[in-house]
Amino acid sequence: MLTLAKPDNRVIKILGRNGVDPSREYMLSSYVYCYSEPGRHLIKSTMTGGIYSLSDEEWANIDPAVNPVVSGKVFEASGLSELVSSCVFVYTTDDDYSRYKLAVSVLKAMDKKTGIKSYTILPTTGCNARCVYCYEKGMKISSMTEATADKVVEYILRTKSSEEITLRWFGGEPLVANKIITRICTALNEHNVLFKSKIITNASLFTPELLDTAVNIWHLNGAQVSVDGSKADYEARKLFCTPVEHNYEHLLKTIGLMLEAGLEVTLRCNYDHGNVEGMYEFWEDINKLYGDTDKLRLYSSMLFQAQKDESCVDLHRRYIEIRSEAQKNGMKFLRGKSSEYRMKSNFCMADSEGKCVVISPEGDLYNCEHLPTNTACSNIFDEDFKLKSDPRASLEVAEECRNCCFLPECTPFCRNGCPDWFKYCREIKSIDTEYQLKNLI
Ligand code: SF4
Ligand code: SF4
Ligand code: SF4
Repeated sequence: MLTLAKPDNRVIKILGRNGVDPSREYMLSSYVYCYSEPGRHLIKSTMTGGIYSLSDEEWANIDPAVNPVVSGKVFEASGLSELVSSCVFVYTTDDDYSRYKLAVSVLKAMDKKTGIKSYTILPTTGCNARCVYCYEKGMKISSMTEATADKVVEYILRTKSSEEITLRWFGGEPLVANKIITRICTALNEHNVLFKSKIITNASLFTPELLDTAVNIWHLNGAQVSVDGSKADYEARKLFCTPVEHNYEHLLKTIGLMLEAGLEVTLRCNYDHGNVEGMYEFWEDINKLYGDTDKLRLYSSMLFQAQKDESCVDLHRRYIEIRSEAQKNGMKFLRGKSSEYRMKSNFCMADSEGKCVVISPEGDLYNCEHLPTNTACSNIFDEDFKLKSDPRASLEVAEECRNCCFLPECTPFCRNGCPDWFKYCREIKSIDTEYQLKNLI
């Protein structure tokens, strides 16, 4: 057996078992995903992140289709004891969901640091594009005033963690209000606050001068740029107010400027049935220009309008096919960053126990950037307010999620109010996990 990805040792310490007990019976944990192809069988634990590769012979000992219950003796005899110590197999008497809850609560208790670590700030909800799919359509457009920006600084000074904090600039298009960002960051620099920042942007308004300010005053080190595939798709979907200036060529050039400035650039490819076929063409353009840099990443997001019916599963499958093809053809920015897996005690900001907050242009506070405007939990002007997780985070996890192998990788209240949740979540995650495992092979 080969270990292709090491498990998170903190979880092993909480849940792992010291060796195999030959007198006991074991079963596959609910929180694993198995993938087989001729001669090779992969098991991924979604709880610990450990990934194991087994030969046909090894697999025959534990194949859950044939042996739903495996004796401890079998693990010892076949040299597969690690599958028990790393939580891939559990006692037949174990309640996996209770073990998951135990791991999460211990990890939460281990994180004793107080104060807010991440502020998502909307300097404006205005934007210079009019994307056909924009989920903010119909939202009131407002921009932060200088007076509110100064109050944001006071709020950060009052509530921040003692460690380095992260500011995430979000909108609308945050660069429309870049002067407000500079105002907030200049004040934080004057107070010697240790911070870095990231931006979610359409990138059209970045110039070399603004990038210089962003790197030196905003301490910007990462940008997520929303893109729409090929030139034709990009221009048909972004609908900039100034389309002559902010066209596809401008996007490609600006990505280059951001990379030159030292930013980690993540391209968020928004796709649906209408533009998925054009992705390859876009990636080819990117690859020709910036294929050698290791600061470029790609992240894809199916547009919520495409998630409404079953056809989204085939759409995602098609997207993965195109991506696999591009990767085979050497586009290395599609590979993703390999980093050691650490199970999260909170999978999203709304469940962060007061470590992350969203600040609207008016200074209202939210637990989640996608929650509707009437769900503010307080505002920056209330000095007595103590930020907590969204109340939905303490609800019991939905039955369907408790038995789902992806629960440890999901926001526990997905089905209890996460605005990003959609019905085909499990199918989409299966396709992604299979893609991840195939890549390892
Ligand atoms: S760039 Fe973002 S905020 Fe602007 S219109 Fe497009 S989706 Fe909406
Ligand atoms: S939201 Fe979907 S993928 Fe996540 S745990 Fe629930 S059923 Fe599974
Ligand atoms: S959209 Fe869902 S996953 Fe994201 S922060 Fe909000 S509640 Fe959490």
